[in-house]
Amino acid sequence: KSVDELLATTRFETDEHNAHIVIDPQACRTCPSDRACVTSCPAQRYVWDEAADQMRFDHVGCLECGNCRLVCERLRLGAEGYSWNYPATGAGVSYRQG
Ligand code: SF4
Repeated sequence: KSVDELLATTRFETDEHNAHIVIDPQACRTCPSDRACVTSCPAQRYVWDEAADQMRFDHVGCLECGNCRLVCERLRLGAEGYSWNYPATGAGVSYRQG
């Protein structure tokens, strides 16, 4: 199954208007972490757009695993233009039990 097919089996209550993860797509040109988010995000939320020379990121579909916060120095340190928070109560992913 593709990642998108697997994500379709997971329930999300996504807050479309308030992204819980914020990045600066242009600042990612000078990433100090080798853009490790692109390969470490299990939901493939980060895509380096070579033509536009910037990061494409969509918080919708985030699994809240925290990988990007670990591998991205700017997210980890809360650099200007970067922040990582859990979604507001009631929003985000709901995992099935069992
Ligand atoms: Fe991807 Fe996990 Fe970061 Fe969400 S928290 S964007 S699933 S790496």
